[in-house]
Amino acid sequence: MSENDNIPYEQSDLYRLRHSAAHVMAEAVLEHFPEAKLAIGPPIADGFYYDFDLGQDENGKPRAFLPEDLEEIEVTLKKLLKKNAKFEQSSKTIAEARQFFADEPYKLELIDQLAAGKVDENGNPISEPVTEVGIYQHRDFVDLCRGPHVAFTKKVRANAVKILRSSGAYWRGDENRAQLQRIYGTAWPNKEELAAYLERLEEAKKRDHRKLGKELDLFSTSPEVGGGLILWHPKGGLVRHLAEEFCKNEHLANGYDMVYSPHIGRSTLWKTSGHLTWYKDDMYSAIQIDEDEYFLKPMNCPFHIMIYKDKMHSYRDLPLRMAEWGTVYRYERSGVMHGLMRVRGFTQDDAHLFCRQDQMPDEIDRALNFCLHILRSFGMDKFHAYLSTRDEKKSAGDAERWQEATDALRAALERAELNYDVDEGGAAFYGPKIDLKMIDALGREWQLSTIQFDFNLPERFDMTYIGQDGEAHRPYMIHRALLGSMERFMGVLIEHYAGAFPLWLAPVQVVMVPITDRHLPYAEKVAADLRAKGVRVAVDASGDRMNKKIRNAQLQKTPYMLVVGDRESEDGTVAVRTRNNEDLGAVPLAEFEKQILSKINAKTQEL
Ligand SMILES: [Zn+2]
Ligand SMILES: [Zn+2]
Repeated sequence: MSENDNIPYEQSDLYRLRHSAAHVMAEAVLEHFPEAKLAIGPPIADGFYYDFDLGQDENGKPRAFLPEDLEEIEVTLKKLLKKNAKFEQSSKTIAEARQFFADEPYKLELIDQLAAGKVDENGNPISEPVTEVGIYQHRDFVDLCRGPHVAFTKKVRANAVKILRSSGAYWRGDENRAQLQRIYGTAWPNKEELAAYLERLEEAKKRDHRKLGKELDLFSTSPEVGGGLILWHPKGGLVRHLAEEFCKNEHLANGYDMVYSPHIGRSTLWKTSGHLTWYKDDMYSAIQIDEDEYFLKPMNCPFHIMIYKDKMHSYRDLPLRMAEWGTVYRYERSGVMHGLMRVRGFTQDDAHLFCRQDQMPDEIDRALNFCLHILRSFGMDKFHAYLSTRDEKKSAGDAERWQEATDALRAALERAELNYDVDEGGAAFYGPKIDLKMIDALGREWQLSTIQFDFNLPERFDMTYIGQDGEAHRPYMIHRALLGSMERFMGVLIEHYAGAFPLWLAPVQVVMVPITDRHLPYAEKVAADLRAKGVRVAVDASGDRMNKKIRNAQLQKTPYMLVVGDRESEDGTVAVRTRNNEDLGAVPLAEFEKQILSKINAKTQEL
């Protein structure tokens, strides 16, 4: 919402609207399912949900909403919104609340958690126990709730609300707890914005990388291999290879060194790094080798530090920039894995910068500019940056160094003229950082790059270099990943381009379309010529008719189709069609070659 651009979502009108819609939807659900037990119902990005326990069906399975239930609930929701009611706020003591919600087991658990100082009415962590809980009521519907809400139900326009779908969801996100039924809905200020949102949703469905990954034969997962572990098929593997090859060459041209490190490391390493203390929940169980325990790496950093520490460094050796396409493994719960976006094993385009204090601002500048150069090469040119700063209560390292580091990050953002938000106190305990999100063709933000200071690991590993003064000094350490994880980046690339990769990345750049079998030899000859120049060409030698062949190539998002028949064979030309359904007519083969090579080399987005 443009008028709310500078207000956090939690404080926006839209948030109140959606939270209020969630309450009225729960009221509607109770009208149809009076026995339903209420869990929680917060606003989320683009909408809201509410979780219910509908009891069990005759087979003892959790009862679920049917599509017709959702239709009826939506009708009732709209009716209840129009039948105006006021949202009234009040509070109850813990004892009163326990009595009032005696029939609502999930609310009772939340009340206990509130009294214990663990979570608030919406299930978010809190730091202190409370003695009174928030209550919101409209008509007979009473909810344990922090608000905020709109004043009257009518403020939520019935024609700007929609129930989207339902799915199973575990209570508190824990698969060992009860399985609940979640209804997702969306609410907007007016029906035009709702319509625009639904259109975006439709478009997003078409671009879903899981769907396109299958259709374009790019990647798969298999229960036999295990969830969140990606199998790259030849076409997806080729796109990934091309992306990596380009990036690695750019790294080498920009003063980085390439290093490699193993997938497992001894427990001693992870003890020194602190990962076994603060990151253990995200790591897999130990592997016993001889007398020692080893762990799969969740990060590459400790290995790069060991490379640094293999010899003494002088101030003249710095800066050092160590890059590795490092494959790491992190624990994700089975319920949260999602295509290429959330996986258990992924490869980071990781690098660690080690430098002196006087070099640090320039290194940050370079890292950010390099980052933008790489992303722009992939046709990504809209960004939103976030700067996370120090939380005094929980930060390692001294305040002055933090300040210098934060200043350098801020200055780099300013020089790059990036839009950025500051997350005050939002940094990890070990250092401030920049997160860079890419805004895609549909206006969605995707987290890709991070430039992160670390004041913790250099201490823990006692990293030093000998300064001009002959004394030992601590180097600055900066973690940076530009594409983030290759898996996730590929997912973003697929969604951004709706699978129609730019020419230089397309797994197949040209499909030859012989009109009849008679023209196959000429098609093969053209293909061989193009391949000799490095163009990726397939020949459609199937018995399909010409239009079907063109259609198939377009469905595969192949940039060019070259149709060849009698005239083309005789004249040494090709009739050029594009995946955008343009007919560029007949061109001499040599001319087409020249054009396509220049476009591939320039990494153009247009055909
Ligand atoms: Zn509420
Ligand atoms: Zn790192």
